[in-house]
Amino acid sequence: MGFAFYLGTHKPQWLWQYPGRRYFISDVQLRTRKGFRGRAAAPWALDSGGYTELNKYGRWTISDVDYAKRINRYAESLGHLLWAAPQDWMCSHEVLARTGLSVADHQRFTIESVKRLRQLTSVQVIPVLQGAEPDDYRRHVDLYEAAGFSLANEPVVGVGSIVKRQRDGGIHALIRELAGCGLHLHAFGYKTLGLRAVWESLRSADSMAWSMAAKNSRIRHPLCANAGHQTCANCFNYAKQWFDDMKADVGFVEQV
Ligand SMILES: [Zn+2]
Repeated sequence: MGFAFYLGTHKPQWLWQYPGRRYFISDVQLRTRKGFRGRAAAPWALDSGGYTELNKYGRWTISDVDYAKRINRYAESLGHLLWAAPQDWMCSHEVLARTGLSVADHQRFTIESVKRLRQLTSVQVIPVLQGAEPDDYRRHVDLYEAAGFSLANEPVVGVGSIVKRQRDGGIHALIRELAGCGLHLHAFGYKTLGLRAVWESLRSADSMAWSMAAKNSRIRHPLCANAGHQTCANCFNYAKQWFDDMKADVGFVEQV
């Protein structure tokens, strides 16, 4: 088993327009669409949009039943859906400040979400580890095991709340340790700096940092010189270039 990268995008049509890679798409982007004009020709994973939801409302306003219904609809109408994130509770400092709850609460709610969603859909809903500090993640592993999960037997275990911790040696050590225990890890939002340190301990990662980079830089891809858009924040050309550059920089060997 090698390492796979899921390219984050707001454009579900890439699933049939640009096959040959994996994609990571959020329910936030998909849920407003009535239907899809094509079927996925590429494997993909579904993000629940937890960061957006918790930052906006300080809690989940979407029921597990509604989210599970949509997971099933995406699996049926688009196909090729490898797994879905649960309605997890991130533990970054800003999200904890927003919800006013403890790390232990966030961890408990995350496990409850995985359990409930697994009763509501046959699409694989992955357990996600959350924490503010490395030891929190270790405690979360124990809480999952106490709740009846066998994490080493799970095909994918997510590691959340690490987007802004690409250089954090404590998180890198944690990831290596968990991989050493046989966990098949997906690092949410991990890109160049984080992947340089730990890609060999991961099964997969995702990022759509390219989109923000395109938006902020306002440098358009050469192939977009005559295109009508202001930025390449939603352009496949730009995303592919970003990915190819990152892959060369990190030096990972990819399995699609
Ligand atoms: Zn463009």
